[in-house]
Amino acid sequence: MWAQNVCMTEIFKGSFTQQEPIPDEGIAAALEVMQSGRLHRYNLVGDEVGETALLEQEFAAYVGAKYALAVASGGYAMATALRAVGVKPGDRVLTNAFTLAPVPGSIASVGAVPVFVGVTESLTIDLEELAAKADQAKVLMLSHMRGHLCDMDRLMEICNSADITVIEDCAHTMGAAWKGRPSGRDGLVGCYSTQTYKHMNSGEGGFFVTDDDEVMARAIILSGSYMLYGRNGTVPPAEVFERVKYVTPNVSGRMDNLRAAILRPQLRKLDKQCAAWNERYATVEDGIRGTPGLTVVERPAEETFVGSSIQFLLLDWKDSAVAEVMKRCVDRGVELKWFGGAEPVGFTSRYDSWRYAPSERMPETDRILKGIVDMRLPLTFSLNDCAQIARIIRAEVGAVFQAQA
Ligand SMILES: *Cc1c(COP(=O)(O)O)cnc(C)c1O
Repeated sequence: MWAQNVCMTEIFKGSFTQQEPIPDEGIAAALEVMQSGRLHRYNLVGDEVGETALLEQEFAAYVGAKYALAVASGGYAMATALRAVGVKPGDRVLTNAFTLAPVPGSIASVGAVPVFVGVTESLTIDLEELAAKADQAKVLMLSHMRGHLCDMDRLMEICNSADITVIEDCAHTMGAAWKGRPSGRDGLVGCYSTQTYKHMNSGEGGFFVTDDDEVMARAIILSGSYMLYGRNGTVPPAEVFERVKYVTPNVSGRMDNLRAAILRPQLRKLDKQCAAWNERYATVEDGIRGTPGLTVVERPAEETFVGSSIQFLLLDWKDSAVAEVMKRCVDRGVELKWFGGAEPVGFTSRYDSWRYAPSERMPETDRILKGIVDMRLPLTFSLNDCAQIARIIRAEVGAVFQAQA
């Protein structure tokens, strides 16, 4: 009895926002940059290739892209992509209704208008709805929200046949792939974030990747290259810059050598980190699978994902019951986030929270959003931590579900 009692009231003591330290190698490289005083990416001696340019070469190689540009943030990479593909004020841009605020924000930042596409129970963009709305815009800002990849073959078919340019928001899919194709490589541009809560941590930062000469040349000029674009890590031919350099504004958003120095060792470790996330994800998933009233989000075999967070659905639950689960879990140290809340809280918000971008109600999407419960899985959690978290969720979801019935 005693053992059971302890088990039923166990409390998780870890922090959901605690990252691992920066690798020692990164700290040493950062110190060297600071000692040199040359933090700006174009503050180079002779024909030196700086940390930022090296990082660009390494990231391009990692995702198999012709070009990579390191920038100040993921949101900056997305706005730059919209500008580089020619989105103008007043243009409409298709995007996910289930995503985070910087995604519609990037569209609004160039004066364009988001057109939201709903979410399925797989937590991916509704491809039927996308096909139905394909005549409404020439660009799709596709957010792989929480690392869930839709059927990328079908998506590209829809977009290619409607002549829609695809930009991918890979903030949660750095290291992920669809049928072995790295996430961010199906669209014309892939955008990534190295903000603290993503798969590499430089505080703030991001990447823009493409194979397109002209889109890349525009992006480099946009990022603020002061006509020093020849010093970037991956550089389109000079004649391409001649076409774009006088007609492309400088919208400064460079990465600096300090951040790049921190990121280079992390990129070398990225695949190992992704495997560590997936062990944690599998432990939580195993532990909550089969909980009455709870739907596990099944992952398709074509998807190689990175389980840096986990979602489950409490579909068709009353708001008050979901709120009760959240409260009981947080009382036991397990911080869950809910996408169904009427008010945006912390990092979670919904399409109807973005009032600068008017939208019609989306009843099917509202049903899913109301059921999405989300949890981060920082690598500072051990597998035992993950098993304990799953036991707590299982117990509290089960208790509230029973009380509801
Ligand atoms: C974090 C995030 C971004 C933007 O990244 P920042 O580097 O914070 O600008 C974009 N999309 C999603 C889904 C994100 O979570």
